[in-house]
Amino acid sequence: MTVRAWHAELAWLGPERGVAERVLVEVEGERIAAVTEGVDPPAGATRLGGVTIPGMANGHSHAFHRALRGRTHRGRGDFWSWRELMYRVAGALDPDRYLELATAAYAEMALAGITAVGEFHYLHHDPAGRPYADPNQMGESLAEAAVRAGVRLTLIDTCYLRAGLDGQPLAGPQLRFGDGDAGTWAERAGTLRDRPGLRVAAGIHSVRAVDPAAMATVAAWAGERQAPLHLHLSEQRAENEACLAATGRTPAALASSAGVLGPRTTAVHATHLTAEDVGLLGATRTTACICPTTERDLADGVGPARALADAGSPLCLGSDSHAVVDLFEEARAVELDERLATGRRGLHQPPDLLAAATGSGMDALGWDAGRLAPGRLADLVTVGLDSVRLAGARPADAVDQLVFAATAADVTSVVASGRPVVQDGHHLLVGDVAAALGRAIAALDDR
Ligand SMILES: [Zn+2]
Repeated sequence: MTVRAWHAELAWLGPERGVAERVLVEVEGERIAAVTEGVDPPAGATRLGGVTIPGMANGHSHAFHRALRGRTHRGRGDFWSWRELMYRVAGALDPDRYLELATAAYAEMALAGITAVGEFHYLHHDPAGRPYADPNQMGESLAEAAVRAGVRLTLIDTCYLRAGLDGQPLAGPQLRFGDGDAGTWAERAGTLRDRPGLRVAAGIHSVRAVDPAAMATVAAWAGERQAPLHLHLSEQRAENEACLAATGRTPAALASSAGVLGPRTTAVHATHLTAEDVGLLGATRTTACICPTTERDLADGVGPARALADAGSPLCLGSDSHAVVDLFEEARAVELDERLATGRRGLHQPPDLLAAATGSGMDALGWDAGRLAPGRLADLVTVGLDSVRLAGARPADAVDQLVFAATAADVTSVVASGRPVVQDGHHLLVGDVAAALGRAIAALDDR
């Protein structure tokens, strides 16, 4: 197998080892073979100026929300009024339009240094709720989109069975989300197979949409496959109130009683938690996926990220609604939003936030990646330090600069699974990503 080499001016080797200079990364196939610090570049090595970090993981994505950017932020309302607008876009998608939109959305992520995406997928069927000829056609569109965009995909095939905790059936725009019951969901999702670049995972939409017995079925499905399991948890106060009223339990307690929590499980948002909920998530090593730019936009609230980490929950990050696709912004927002909520600074240190964006996110998505170390998938993301935002950065504070000052626009080069995807800020596979986004979104407007 051919060995290829990249030589980084600076490279971040994780929270313990920090930033090293003149780092040679040798890659065999899709994996890192060796990482050597303090050496000059050998002939044939590709030079990476600036600071190189592992690939970033977008732990929570709804690709189609990219079409909502800039169109849902004005006006009043809350999550529930926003959801009406979101359902309109969901209703306009078919497998071809979804392929086009998701390819462009994932390509935007690649440009931002994201090498793996967790797609929380529940647009399974046609708008009337009838399966397509291939019942996984919409999921296959997402898988193909990731291939075209040069990123890995964790397809979180999500079970969505009812409209609310009162047991009301799905109706209107929700019809296409549903498989009827958890057994039918498991059968359909079970025909999807892992393949290079694709990891199949399980999703529980929320305690609103999936009853406890069905949650247990989904958790067992994920357990048999050792697959990641993700669920929306306590994003909304109204969800907590309805859950308490209907079951006498919080969403976290209900999920716990259904056997959903554990080290392969990721609770998305985890915003409105009691101290007992934090204890349940932490004790089971359930990951918390924080999506601050979305949580801000939807007026969801600020979750107890510090308390979760202290209790034992790894943290990862998601751009969720894609109002912003920039994991540096998500990373600093975990700290900055919690500063506003608590009146204290320094709750989360920059190396820990960068670990949330990289290694912890890859763990949550089931990828052996997110660390610049031998044996890991070879994802190299390089951030130039010569932009007006980062000029003046020193090696000693490069990580602080990344977390508190860098933007997605500072990413110059991306290698994913050993393959160059972005060079000099240009997407090598999709080309003009802005034009692709424009076409895909206009196609939905025209409908
Ligand atoms: Zn979500």
